[in-house]
Amino acid sequence: MREIHVDHVVQSVRDLCIKANTELGDDVLNAFHRALETEESLVGKDILNQLIENAHIAQDRQIPMCQDTGLAVVYLEVGQDIHVVGGSLTDAVNEGVRQGYREGYLRKSLCDPVTRENTGDNTPAMIHYDIVVGDGFRIIVAPKGGGGEMMSKVVMFTPSDGLEGVKRFVVNLVKESGGKPCPPTIVGVGMGGTFEKTALLAKKALLRPVGSRNPDPQLDSLEKEWLAEINRLGIGPQGLGGRTTSLAVHINTMPGHIASIPVAVNLQCHSSRHKEIEL
Ligand code: SF4
Repeated sequence: MREIHVDHVVQSVRDLCIKANTELGDDVLNAFHRALETEESLVGKDILNQLIENAHIAQDRQIPMCQDTGLAVVYLEVGQDIHVVGGSLTDAVNEGVRQGYREGYLRKSLCDPVTRENTGDNTPAMIHYDIVVGDGFRIIVAPKGGGGEMMSKVVMFTPSDGLEGVKRFVVNLVKESGGKPCPPTIVGVGMGGTFEKTALLAKKALLRPVGSRNPDPQLDSLEKEWLAEINRLGIGPQGLGGRTTSLAVHINTMPGHIASIPVAVNLQCHSSRHKEIEL
């Protein structure tokens, strides 16, 4: 059985926290460039150019691309044939976050919901475990900023609401959010499952590369239709008007109860950050 020492996990999570906050993915940068070709608003174009410049400065100087360095969302895909040795896996992830946020000079953005006291080290991480077949071990770190998270929602629809009702909900949510989630956004949509599963489907939808097609042709066509409608809202980059309100709509589904259609929308701001490693 393959063994992975927790020290390896600590180091990897530390590095991923810093890298995710300083290096914007090429998929997002390419989407900014594509948006420049279609954006009609001069202010919108200016903001898109600033976002591109900001991303280059952050990478060159290894400084965060945004002051809101987010909550540390960590996905672990752990092979069922892996043996983790040397201590607790959860503790190792939190230690990696602690070190990454301290050594990368990243803002600690986590506080107690009742006392509002900052936890001081950006832990606990929001960890999601998946047990997978084989002996692989994948870590994904996706820092999540406050703006996009604040405007996200879960709603339980009935089957009679249909896809039209779901589309209205998604488009209206983006409309009512305006500039608050720091557009251009990526709109992660979860449909099906249960109340909690659909929220995770929506969040995981944000990991798909921007510009990629949904492998399900029906969902792919819904994504294109909903994105076109969203980009007709006129919210634009940073909410100051324009065609580029969202860069993508990503839909994730799973079967759910016959009585309901749980739907979640998790908005992702333009600082769309996630990095991963396979150990
Ligand atoms: S929502 Fe995103 S872009 Fe806006 S402040 Fe937070 S991390 Fe930065």
